[in-house]
Amino acid sequence: MSRLALVRDQRFLQHLTPESHPESPQRLVAIDNAIARHALDHDLKQLTPRSASEEEISLIHSPAYIEHLYQDAEKARKTDSLVQLDADTFASADTYDIAKLAAGAGLTGIDSVAGGQHDRAFVAVRPPGHHALVDKAMGFCLFNNIAVAVRYAQKSAAFKKVFVIDWDVHHGNGTQWAFYDDPSVFFASFQQYPFWPYDSGWYLEDGKGEGKGRNMNIPLPAGTGDRGYLHAFDQLVKPVCLEFAPDLIMVSAGYDAHQDDPLGQQRITTAGFAMLTQRVADLAAATGSKVVVFLEGGYNVRSLSDSATATMRVLNAASDAELGAVHAAYLMPYAAADPNHVSNDRSVDQVDERVGVVRQHFAKYWKELR
Ligand SMILES: [Zn+2]
Repeated sequence: MSRLALVRDQRFLQHLTPESHPESPQRLVAIDNAIARHALDHDLKQLTPRSASEEEISLIHSPAYIEHLYQDAEKARKTDSLVQLDADTFASADTYDIAKLAAGAGLTGIDSVAGGQHDRAFVAVRPPGHHALVDKAMGFCLFNNIAVAVRYAQKSAAFKKVFVIDWDVHHGNGTQWAFYDDPSVFFASFQQYPFWPYDSGWYLEDGKGEGKGRNMNIPLPAGTGDRGYLHAFDQLVKPVCLEFAPDLIMVSAGYDAHQDDPLGQQRITTAGFAMLTQRVADLAAATGSKVVVFLEGGYNVRSLSDSATATMRVLNAASDAELGAVHAAYLMPYAAADPNHVSNDRSVDQVDERVGVVRQHFAKYWKELR
């Protein structure tokens, strides 16, 4: 039995964006091709998503916004053109149905791990979700797929404490605000900073009310690479996650912090994404948590598809030997230059100082950081 379930669907290609828009259907085509290249088709249990109901989407979004998106897609259908929702977010004729399917894919992923058939699921969707706000589309995102799935997991699948890790290069503002005062959801978000969306993502946004100390932003300077991300994970995310003791870990896995991505300036390699994924798997093992990973950004189709399949291969490895072989394959291109792997950060001191500042700030909430 495969460890990992893969939720994917050709219908996700039907949400259209303007020509040369970075969030294109080609992103999922590239991932499908990489899955075939690594022969993962046979290794993974593939699940066809269901649509989320409007009631399920309203676990996060306002009924008025849901209706608004429906009307925008209807307008696109009637006029046979795209309807612009914000500076860079669009609705096409099928967008409403496909956005419901993307939100539903997360619920299919939750069900697959809740039912015990699999420990882990990868939800390969578009449109992405982590910028979508309660009542607003934003940054290529329509419904906040991961946020809807968190609420569904707690309501329908009896998961109590959910730890969300967001390593997309952009701040997961929609997810932050959805759970800002909720002590049952910990949100840990890595982002290039300062960077779009500019009005959120700083570490002093640390939650409110009962959720105080449970919203951890890790704002990293441009040029942060594998070493910096892994250092931040080990110094911040790991100790807090162990203390929080979740029963479900969810990941907003954008791959736009890759060194080859056209939007971000971070320097994570494909090997780095394999190692970040390994750390998630290790935390899941240590806490006895299930894992559900959601595709978010990533706009170089080659680095996106290589990195997304690296995540799948690490999460699906059936033995330590297989895992070792997977990591070795990704590390090989760097081994000649640096046997201990890449240290490609542009600004080691700045990164370590920032991680230290965030750790000091959160030490008042978490004894593992003291
Ligand atoms: Zn992004």
